[in-house]
Amino acid sequence: MSRPTFLVTTTLTAAVVTLTPLAAAADGELNLYSSRHYDTDERLYSDFTEATGITVNRIEGKADELIARMEAEGANSPADILLTVDTSRLERAKEAGVLQSVDSAVLEGRIPAYLQDSDNQWFGFSQRARIIFYDKTDVENPPQTYADLADPAYKGMVCHRSSTNVYSQTLLASVIEHAGAEAATEWAQGVVDNFARKPQGGDTDQLRGLVSGECDISISNTYYFARSIRRDVDGLPADARANIGWVFPSQNAEGAHMNLSGGGVAVNAPNRENAIAFLEYLASDQAQQYFSAGNDEYPAVPGVALSPSVAALGLFKPDDVDLSAVAKNVPEAQRIFNMVGWQ
Ligand code: FE
Repeated sequence: MSRPTFLVTTTLTAAVVTLTPLAAAADGELNLYSSRHYDTDERLYSDFTEATGITVNRIEGKADELIARMEAEGANSPADILLTVDTSRLERAKEAGVLQSVDSAVLEGRIPAYLQDSDNQWFGFSQRARIIFYDKTDVENPPQTYADLADPAYKGMVCHRSSTNVYSQTLLASVIEHAGAEAATEWAQGVVDNFARKPQGGDTDQLRGLVSGECDISISNTYYFARSIRRDVDGLPADARANIGWVFPSQNAEGAHMNLSGGGVAVNAPNRENAIAFLEYLASDQAQQYFSAGNDEYPAVPGVALSPSVAALGLFKPDDVDLSAVAKNVPEAQRIFNMVGWQ
């Protein structure tokens, strides 16, 4: 789907606000298990509390640890909401049975179908594209599609992170969804054959590889690059960044691979109504801006303004393949990674 309504907005500033103390929670509480930790999220919670009187209690941790904790707590879990990143992980939470289906006209109306679980157990609230970055001084004709990354013309030039990472898994899972397992295997083999080095590091390290000269072509989520526009990032100084070009892949085909940051209502949520109210609030225009800008991401709700660092990347066509279907291909993706030796 195209997003002609994306606009540039003014800089969003994070407000440091103390959450309402527990004792004052006359209108109820909300227990939020979150792997997010951005300054702008503070503003989200305080605005929600102000609007509803519902106190937000946060438990922060790594996504997989939070899911394990919810499983271990079982029926006694105080968790009302799980907020995390990546479709594959949200799908894992669903498979673990720690989420429940939610029937909300607000969420159905605001969040595009491809950013929702097919059983409404999770919803995406911000999006990131996984795109091609390249060294403009070395690469005259950068790859224009994901398929191009396997072209022998780019032998010894491509950097990507390890196959143990969820971003790698979801990307290959989407190639499987579009082209089938056989073509996806050929593609993965071709990319491995083009690697400039053994898969290593995070997405920012792939971008740093362009600066150091180790990589000519790197794949990264958009927000890592957008962040380096907004503030200083180690190893990506402004002058070096100026030599980095980017391609939103497959614009004449399926579009750029998208992933999301999202959440769902916990299966044993003691404050279920508050939890649904919170998710509906996250889909509001203002919350969408804070939620997405906090990590230099794209809002999930069409028409919500982009933050300046994100708008600087330009408009593009996102792949609107159903992410719930893509996530189900992750075990197959892992099998293919092993088969082609993508470490
Ligand atoms: Fe990330």
